[in-house]
Amino acid sequence: MLQFYNTLSRKLEDFIPLEPLRCGIYTCGPTVYNYAHIGNLRTYIFEDTLRRTLEYAGFSVRHVMNVTDVGHLSDDADSGEDKIERSARESGRTVWDLARFYTEAFFRDAGELNILTPGVVCRATDHIDDMIALIKRLEERGLVYLSEGNVYFDISRFPPYGRLARLVPDSLRSGARIAVDQHKKNPQDFVLWFTKSKFENPSMLWDSPWGRGYPGWHIECSAMSMKYLGETFDIHCGGVDHIPIHHTNEIAQSEGATGKPWVRYWLHGEFLLLKNAKMSKSSGTFLTLADIKARGFHPLDYRYFCLTAHYRSQLIFSWEALAAARQARKNLEQRLGQLKAQAPEAGAVPPDSFSPAAQDFREKFCRDIGRDLGLPQALARLWGLLKEASLSPGEKLALALDMDRVFGLNLKAEEDPGEKPLPAAGEPEAPLIEALIEKRAAARKAGDFAAADQIRRELLERGIMIRDLPGKTLWFPASDAP
Ligand code: AMP
Ligand code: ZN
Repeated sequence: MLQFYNTLSRKLEDFIPLEPLRCGIYTCGPTVYNYAHIGNLRTYIFEDTLRRTLEYAGFSVRHVMNVTDVGHLSDDADSGEDKIERSARESGRTVWDLARFYTEAFFRDAGELNILTPGVVCRATDHIDDMIALIKRLEERGLVYLSEGNVYFDISRFPPYGRLARLVPDSLRSGARIAVDQHKKNPQDFVLWFTKSKFENPSMLWDSPWGRGYPGWHIECSAMSMKYLGETFDIHCGGVDHIPIHHTNEIAQSEGATGKPWVRYWLHGEFLLLKNAKMSKSSGTFLTLADIKARGFHPLDYRYFCLTAHYRSQLIFSWEALAAARQARKNLEQRLGQLKAQAPEAGAVPPDSFSPAAQDFREKFCRDIGRDLGLPQALARLWGLLKEASLSPGEKLALALDMDRVFGLNLKAEEDPGEKPLPAAGEPEAPLIEALIEKRAAARKAGDFAAADQIRRELLERGIMIRDLPGKTLWFPASDAP
C-alpha cells in the first residue's frame, strides 16, 4: 500500500486510486521564457520519482504536464509584466521562437536528468479554446464578472476558496499583501481572460466572447488537466510556492465549473535553496544544469544529490554537497561493476527466483518508497544491500538494478563504468569546454552576446580558442592556433 502526504488534509493518507492500479497525475510544467533553474529541476525530479514509484508498484500512470508558453505574469498577482514578452523584447526575438527554444532546452535538461517524459505534454497556446470553454462554464454559473475589459473570478461566489492553503477568509480580505487592484471586488479575485493588456502590443492574442485578448495564467492548468484526466483525478503536484495562489485558484476554477471534487491527492515539493541567495528567474540569480555541467559534473550527480533529501524537506545546494553526491554515484557504479565481475556468467538473478533474504530486502525497499516516497531511506537501503553478506553477488546486482527503476540513476553495472576521470590540471577539460561552448551557443541564440563574449573570454583563460562554423563551433588549444 502506498501512502502520500496530502496537502489537502495535511496528513499521511493511504493512496486509493479512482480506478484500481491506474493513476492520473497532473504536474504544473515549465514556464518557457528562460532556462529551468536547478530548483525547478528538483521539483521535476521529485515528480519523476513519484511516477516511477507508482509504476514500480504496478500502476499504469497517465502523466500530464503543461508547458506555459503564454501570459505568465511577473508575480502571482494579476499585475506586472509578462515574462515571455519581456524576455522576447530583451533578446529581439519573437515570443513564439523564444517559447520553442526554451521548451526544447527544458526537455533536453529533463532527458539528461533521466526524467521520463510525461505521456501527455500540452502547450497552453494549443488549448486556448478549452480555456475559453471553461471560462464560459464559470460565467454560466455566475462565478465571474467583467471589469475594465477583463474577466475576473469572483472568490466570494466560491465559499471553499483557499481551503488548500488554509487561508482564513477574514485575512483574505483585510490583510491582503498584494497590491489592491481597483477593478477587483476582492483582493484575491484573479483574471481569467485579459482584453486590456498592461503591455503595449502583446503579440499573443486570440478572439474570445469577451474580446480579443489572452488567458490568465491559472486557467490553463484547470482546462488541460480536465481535458486529459477527467473532471476528477488522482494526483496533482508542484512546488510549495504554488499552494497559496496558483493551486488555490486552479481548484476554484475547476470545482467552480464542475461542482465536483477535482483533485484527490495534492503533493508538494519543498524548495531547493542556495546558501546565500534566493533562486529566482526574475532576478537572474539562478543556476542551471549547464552551470553544473560547466563545473565538470554529470547531470545524474545532481539527480543523486536530490535523492538524498526527502521531497518535503528544504534542500540547500552547495558545490561541496554536489561533489559528495558525485563521489557516491561513482562508488555505486564501481560497486555494481565489481558485482558484475563476481557473477559474470549468472549475471543478475531474475526477481522470481530471489532467495527469502533478497525478497525481504525488496519488501523493505517497497516500504521505504511506499511511505510518502522515502527516497533517502531507499538510497540508504541500497547501500545496505551492497554491504549485505548474506546475499549472492547476482542477487545484489538484480536488486540494485530493480531499485534503480525508481531512483532513475541509470545504473548499468558495467565493469568499467565508463566515466572519464576529471582531467588533471593543464590537460584539456573536454566535457567542461563542451558544456561552456553549448552555454555560449545558447546565449548567442537568445541574443545575449555579452554573456557569449564572457564565455569566450573564460575559455581563452583556460587556454582554449574557438572558431564558429555554420552550425557548429570548433575548439582547440590556443597553443595550436595558426
Ligand atoms: P515555474 O517554471 O516557475 O512555474 O516553476 C516550475 C516548478 O518549479 C514549479 O512546480 C515550482 O513550484 C517549482 N519551483 C520554483 N522554484 C523552486 C525552487 N527554488 N526549488 C524547488 N522547486 C521550485
Ligand atoms: Zn498549474
